[in-house]
Amino acid sequence: MIRRALILSAVALALAISAKAADLSYDLTPQEVAPGTYVLEGTREYFTRENGGNIVNTAFIVTNEGVVVIDNGPSKRYGEELRAAIARVTDKPVLRVIVTHLHPDHFLGGQAFEDVPVGATAATRAGIAEEGTMVTENLYRLSGDWMRGTETVVPSETLEDGQVIKVGGHTLRLLELSGHTESDLVVMDETTGVLFASDLVFHDRAPTFPHADIAVWLESLDTLQALDFKVLVPGHGPVTRDAGPIEQTRAYLQWLNGALREAAAGGREITEVIRMPIPPEFADMDLVRDELTRSVLTLYPELARDSLPPASN
Ligand SMILES: [Zn+2]
Repeated sequence: MIRRALILSAVALALAISAKAADLSYDLTPQEVAPGTYVLEGTREYFTRENGGNIVNTAFIVTNEGVVVIDNGPSKRYGEELRAAIARVTDKPVLRVIVTHLHPDHFLGGQAFEDVPVGATAATRAGIAEEGTMVTENLYRLSGDWMRGTETVVPSETLEDGQVIKVGGHTLRLLELSGHTESDLVVMDETTGVLFASDLVFHDRAPTFPHADIAVWLESLDTLQALDFKVLVPGHGPVTRDAGPIEQTRAYLQWLNGALREAAAGGREITEVIRMPIPPEFADMDLVRDELTRSVLTLYPELARDSLPPASN
């Protein structure tokens, strides 16, 4: 009897899981942050089987001629739902997609946009070609069924630093900065004053560092802060009308950099560094302890090696 009950409950569980897979939906809701400019704000979480990787901000601009999309999300399903969300806002065609950098939550919706030009910098295109399959597999592991059918699409066009895209009454200026990754593409819409800051800016969600160079990232934040923007769209976290998220990201990077260097100079063990106290000003950032652990694991070994006294002969 017990065995039969177990089999039945296993079958019920399997049915429940496949039913859930069939009705997975990101429920994407575009928010208008400036005239014709929409942001789809993701959760301030890590990739899970509940959020399906919807942890990222994507955006689109409806111009007189058609739609420009900035980043396309973490999965084929997200890309398709983004395209459907755009179609609910406008009947104008999608003209092009801009991918800001090589992290998978920003480009894995690419299959839904294969009929239009998808642009990224040369370094980002090369990085996606090299690491795309590996990061896609990693997201399958983290997000499960949401990823079904998702494959890496390498952006089809190269975008350059300083390039200006004039489209349907908008002037979009591209800036290739770096620090979060080797190449972080920022889009400044000079017509509306909206700055799409990519993952150079996180807001109320701890930054991530798998490809980061903190010193370079800090310089890029200064460049961003000097731009004349009215609306700031971070890569993760809420949109603002001030430079608050730039300042928050800068303060966190400066603290982390200082704390890691001090620990390295003091010869502290990585297990101890992972547990270091987080200053109260960052305690409310989502995922701060998790991301701190990941960033120490990424950044600390090299710092610790560099601060070893020179070997004596
Ligand atoms: Zn990123």
